This record gives sequence, structure tokens and C-alpha cells, in this order.
Amino acid sequence: MKNAAIDPAALAAELIRRPSVTPRDEGAIDIVAGYLEDLGFTCHRLVFGEGDQAIRNLYARIGRGQPNLCFAGHTDVVPPGAREAWSFDPFSASLRAGALYGRGAVDMKGAIAAFIAAAERWLVGRGADFAGSISFLITGDEEAAGLNGTRKVLEWLAARGEVLDACIVGEPTSAAALGDMVKIGRRGSLNAHLSVHGVQGHIAYPHRADNAAHRLVAMLHALTVAELDQGSEHFQPSTLQVSTIDIGNPAANVIPAEARAVFNIRFGDRWSGDGLKRWLAERLDSVGGRYTLDVAISGESFLVAPGIVSEALGEAIRRVTGRDPELSTTGGTSDARFIHSYCPVAEFGLVGQTMHKADERVDLADLAALTEIYRTFLDLFFAKS
Ligand SMILES: [Zn+2]
Repeated sequence: MKNAAIDPAALAAELIRRPSVTPRDEGAIDIVAGYLEDLGFTCHRLVFGEGDQAIRNLYARIGRGQPNLCFAGHTDVVPPGAREAWSFDPFSASLRAGALYGRGAVDMKGAIAAFIAAAERWLVGRGADFAGSISFLITGDEEAAGLNGTRKVLEWLAARGEVLDACIVGEPTSAAALGDMVKIGRRGSLNAHLSVHGVQGHIAYPHRADNAAHRLVAMLHALTVAELDQGSEHFQPSTLQVSTIDIGNPAANVIPAEARAVFNIRFGDRWSGDGLKRWLAERLDSVGGRYTLDVAISGESFLVAPGIVSEALGEAIRRVTGRDPELSTTGGTSDARFIHSYCPVAEFGLVGQTMHKADERVDLADLAALTEIYRTFLDLFFAKS
């Protein structure tokens, strides 16, 4: 084990300097593995996928006993966008006014660095001689399709009989201040493409035509006036939002034969994707006529009932920041949607205000506090289990 304590800011900067835009790795996984190997972790580098779409992943563990507490995260980042929008090169990890700038600073190279530093501090004097295990599941495929990332690593672990007993995901869940929000579930998401088929005709002879635009309007009205639910204990009300309506008819005197719309539903635990498909068919059939509906469910909703992970995390956050975190299910999806079928999971990390934006940055004070929260969490988790 290295003698000098790991500086989470220096480690985060080292990771930010690797331009690991999905599916590229650029050595980011090896940096994480290198630090963990120095701490005594056994590392498995796992490559899934073919050719230039191949994804590097890492599973690392220290300790042989249970419970096995896993930290899950991703080293891949979204593209930086236009260079001019940034104050610094997005992969230079520049410092200004106590903040570290760069793509991935909060989503989520900073949190990975914080948990590695926390593990080092917690392991001092313990080494591998403690009752449980700490593991890291780090993927390079979270920001894109997620086909060759966490899901495949979880299947690989299950095939080896490797059990995760609890998991914390380091996504930037804090909203305005570090520690104000922990996520214990996520809403589901459904995308739908609706095409209404009518009969084209002269606008002056509507009885000889079937106006697809009118029926599309009636269908979207039937969908948008309905209340899906009023929410539940841990979920906001489910919502349906129309994102586009396309008819593209250039002629003012022609009744359109075809009209299309795209909409999305974000749904809580009162719905499943299949239940929503049936509900949509009922509402659309009530308007009638010919239509096609293509539905893709990008994730079902899930909730992990408050338990040891969220409790220990909440207590660690209170001790370090004095804040009482809200247990929330808001926001988009994350890899927790795969992990929750294997073990209890909660998500907690940095303040997400600049994620996916130009000038993404993390306050160094937040990085130090997050490291202390994670270390305290390890104390509380292993004391309770
Ligand atoms: Zn992320």
C-alpha cells in the first residue's frame, strides 16, 4: 500500500485528462485499476463488445467475506460539445477559484476518485482483515446504450457466483448543495411513435377523405387530458409529454393522409411498461380509425425501500454536512436500474448542476466532503452489518 494518502482532487484530474467519451477508454479504467491494485484489490479487467465498439470495464474486490459492499460508477463521459463554450480545454482539468473544470468532473470521475480515496482511508490499519468486502464495478459504457457495461458485468459476476450485498452508485444526485438528495429509485421511461393513417382528398370535399390531422389531434387530446396517476409515496405523478407533431403538408387545399407524433411518458411505481401499452391502445382505440403505435420502454420504474444503504448514507451525510437528504426518485435513468435486481442500491454523489454542460466543474471542498461522507458511510455500513 502506498504511504501517502490519495488526494481525490489529483486523482479526479488524472481521470479528467483521459478523453474517455463513450465508447473510448483512453486508459481511464487502467488508472482506476492501478490505484486499487496498490490498495490490495484484486482487479478483473473485462472487455465486452467487438472492434472499435469494445468497452472496457473493471471489477475489483478486497476482502473475502460478506457483506460485499460495491461502489458502482462509470469512467465514460458525454462529448464536450463546442470548445468555445468552455473556459478551458474540457480535458485539461484546469483549476480556478477552488473548482476543478473538465468533462466528467461531477459525472462522475470526481465521485470515483472520492470513493477510492475513502476506501484507502478506511482500509488504513485494517488491510484486507475485516469481516466483509469492498468492491468496485466501473464501466466505460454508461452514457451511451449501456449494452456492454454494467449489465454484462453483473451477469459475469452472477455466473462466477460472486454476490453483491449492497451497492452505492456515485451519480451526481445532489441538487443544489452536496448532501441534499439521495436517490432510492428512478422513474420508468417510455417513448412512443404514433402514426395516424387517413385518406387524402380535396379540402373542399372532406366527405371523400379521412383527415389524419384531425384524428391525430383527437388522439393526442385523449392522451393528454387523462391523468395517469397522482403520484405515490416516493414518486411524482406520472407525466406524458408530446415532443413533436409532424404532418409536413405543403398544400393548403389537400387533406393529409398521414400525421405523426412522438411522445414520452415518465412513470412511477403505479405503472409498468406493459400496463401503459394497454392504456395507450385503449385511449387511441376510443378515438378510432387506422393508426400504428411503436413503443420502446427504455427502463421500468423501480424503488428500493429505505434500508441499510440509504440509512447509513443518510447518517454519514448528516454527520459531514449537517444536511438531511431527501430520498428521491426524480431525474433520468442510471445503471441503478440494472443493479437493483441484484441487491439494495442507493445513489449518491456530487452536485449535478453542471453535468453534461460546458464548464462542468466540481468544487474541491465538495470533493473533500464527499470523500469524508463515503468514508463515514463505510464505517456505519460495516458497523451495522
Ligand atoms: Zn453519470
